[in-house]
Amino acid sequence: MKLLLHTCCAPCSVYCIDELRKEGIEPTVYWYNPNIHPYMEYKARRDCLKEYTESINVKAIFHENYGLDEFCKEAVKDLKNRCTNYCYPIRIEQTCKYAKEHGYDTVSTTLLYSIYQNHEFIKSCMEEKCNKYGLSFLYRDFRVGFWEGHQKAHDLGLYMQKYCGCVFSEESRYNCHNSTKPDIPTDTSAVREQMPQVKRIENKEDYIGLLLEADPSKASIMKYLQDSDVYGLKLNDEIISLAVILHIDKNTLELKNLVTKKEYRNKGYAKRLLKHLCGNYKQKYDKMIVGTTENNIPFYVKQGFDKYEKTIKNYFIDNYDEEIKDGNLICTDMIYYAKDLKKKM
Ligand code: SF4
Repeated sequence: MKLLLHTCCAPCSVYCIDELRKEGIEPTVYWYNPNIHPYMEYKARRDCLKEYTESINVKAIFHENYGLDEFCKEAVKDLKNRCTNYCYPIRIEQTCKYAKEHGYDTVSTTLLYSIYQNHEFIKSCMEEKCNKYGLSFLYRDFRVGFWEGHQKAHDLGLYMQKYCGCVFSEESRYNCHNSTKPDIPTDTSAVREQMPQVKRIENKEDYIGLLLEADPSKASIMKYLQDSDVYGLKLNDEIISLAVILHIDKNTLELKNLVTKKEYRNKGYAKRLLKHLCGNYKQKYDKMIVGTTENNIPFYVKQGFDKYEKTIKNYFIDNYDEEIKDGNLICTDMIYYAKDLKKKM
């Protein structure tokens, strides 16, 4: 099978590509979206998809057509039905045409992932255009992975758009002209409930008990807590992991505390929280450092803290009243590693 996957943006492609690859199908991503306005929005979505497809090593073709004039001329003929009269068909038609001319035998689209799109129409339009061009249509109801894909895209720090694409949908985000309600397949609700969410914590001192499990001195925690940002990973109404981030200077942050409740450890929650925060902070900061004990160096190196910075000799002896143990290790030195936040992982 040679599959051309029409792709509207990077976040929508995440789950679709992952799922296809799980099935052993390697898609070629095809960008053709003259429905995204204004130009900086078009560019942001396109560039993010370029970066993402390179990072996961998937072939991507970018068919450039900002196409504002033509799109608006056609859309205003029947504003209410612009999606089905023009926007979906023009993109699907062009994808099939390109596929036929370039030796692809199968076509699909990431439009089948969004719970905000007219799924049934897209499916029938794909069937119709594939028939017209003599192609196979690979249908998947990617909506079942909507929240999972959304969270992963968020964690990866991908550019997340706030509206569908055209200038009319941009208006709808403020005025609820578009009364279409998302059509969510029933089995996504389970996925949604179980997806942990990152929350900023304001009542920081309420979490001292959990923070003490990673830094066993209240005096030490109080030195950095008020000046730091604290984020929690919330799972089913419970904060299960915490990260405390201190601003060092205009380019640098320090991860002061990262901890997960005992019963949730070794399930990747701290890693997930850290990855999410690094993705967000990289917009403004270049570097995050962390001071740690020898035992934890492999964990942090795996999370991208791979540049050795410095060692503070006898830190744990000089700064804590009691002997600090990490497993069997009696902690003495604090070892600092840094992560380049701009570096692709
Ligand atoms: S709302 Fe979305 S699908 Fe409909 S015309 Fe605008 S960009 Fe296209």
